[in-house]
Amino acid sequence: MNAVALETVQGRVWDAAVIGAGPAGAMLARQLARQGASVFLVDKAAFPRRKVCGCCLNQRAVSALEEAGLGHILRQNGAVPLRSLNLVVAGQNAVITLPSGYALSREVFDTALVNEAIAAGASFLPQTRADGSATQENVRTLRLRRDNADFEIAVQAVVVASGLGSKLSGHDEDLLAPPTPHSRIGAGTILESLPDGYHSETIYMGCGSRGYIGLVAVEGRRLNIAAALDAEWVKECGGLPFAAARLLQESSLPPITGIEELPWKGTPALTRRASRVSSHRLFILGDAAGYIEPFTGEGMAWALTSALALAPLVVRALEDYRPEVETDWEGLYHQLVVKRQGFCRILASLLRHPGWMKQGVRLLRALPQAAAPMVRSVNARLQLQGEP
Ligand SMILES: Cc1cc2nc3c(=O)[nH]c(=O)nc-3n(C[C@H](O)[C@H](O)[C@H](O)COP(=O)(O)OP(=O)(O)OC[C@H]3O[C@@H](n4cnc5c(N)ncnc54)[C@H](O)[C@@H]3O)c2cc1C
Repeated sequence: MNAVALETVQGRVWDAAVIGAGPAGAMLARQLARQGASVFLVDKAAFPRRKVCGCCLNQRAVSALEEAGLGHILRQNGAVPLRSLNLVVAGQNAVITLPSGYALSREVFDTALVNEAIAAGASFLPQTRADGSATQENVRTLRLRRDNADFEIAVQAVVVASGLGSKLSGHDEDLLAPPTPHSRIGAGTILESLPDGYHSETIYMGCGSRGYIGLVAVEGRRLNIAAALDAEWVKECGGLPFAAARLLQESSLPPITGIEELPWKGTPALTRRASRVSSHRLFILGDAAGYIEPFTGEGMAWALTSALALAPLVVRALEDYRPEVETDWEGLYHQLVVKRQGFCRILASLLRHPGWMKQGVRLLRALPQAAAPMVRSVNARLQLQGEP
């Protein structure tokens, strides 16, 4: 991975700066670079880096990659095809057939996307934190921090794709709404081999009274584990690994020896929404713009599809900046992401009631085709021409 020195990006006005090299930011930087924009992508982490995620790319995410000509990322990195979802609640299970989808660890997927952005001409600055930006008439000044040194860089447009818990400064501060009260937190880890009772090509989803846990084989026959948990309950259990072990037990998924000793990572509160996703020469994208919960496994699809949709608007803004571009992004984001999040929001509240979940699993056992409309909607292929 070719990272550039911070000094080399100073002393000129760039077309665009993209903050955050997750799926949203890396895809957007790549699309902008392909359109001839001078763009740099900045991330506070060293890459490859792990990220708490279920690592399942649904059919919609896969079609967004294909639309961008990046389907080879999955083929070349040993992504595991997904055939079914095994939903388990209190010892009862239902198996739902999936139309398509792949599991690939985030350290491999995100690194591959960043490499595509670099190959398209974007400059990548890892281990560099963006601390905020200020507007001047025709540019924004972005503050970057690396190795305790501060730098300021002038850009025509800033894209904030820095994920959950993103921060903005100055006038933009108010755009990022706080998480909703009682929002769950995320947690995740990776097991280096597949334990007994878990097989490739199936997503195992165990639901309990205070959270749910998803387990899936990723490349190299490793098991990715991710969970959404009530923060208070995590404290009662004595920490993330103990809460995860309790969820496996409650749902009756096969126990995993040594799960408590694995290096678990947590996330900030999950459910949040920015009050607006644009400001003068600034656009917000991906989890930074809003997130609900991971149960339907759509976050990367939302991130990738909205990056593809935002790229032409940013290119237009670079040619001739007009405030209407902000309104256009608000509308497009609403149609592409906010409307699609409605179903996930309803499901997130049902998941707070294990009794209802049990009834749901019973229904799906008796009538597996009852899941079809939900599976179809979550996996609907991207059709940018006809979207939404
Ligand atoms: C438990 C859990 C399970 C999930 N399971 C799935 C799933 O199976 N399928 C799915 O599609 N989605 C899933 N998601 C959602 C998915 O992980 C996110 O929606 C997706 O990562 C959003 O991408 P993003 O690019 O917006 O942000 P991120 O992937 O979070 O990337 C943001 C990047 O910004 C960087 N950054 C942050 N602050 C700064 C800063 N100030 N300066 C520079 N860089 C910064 C971070 O280091 C990071 O690399 C899950 C989420 C959770 C919590």
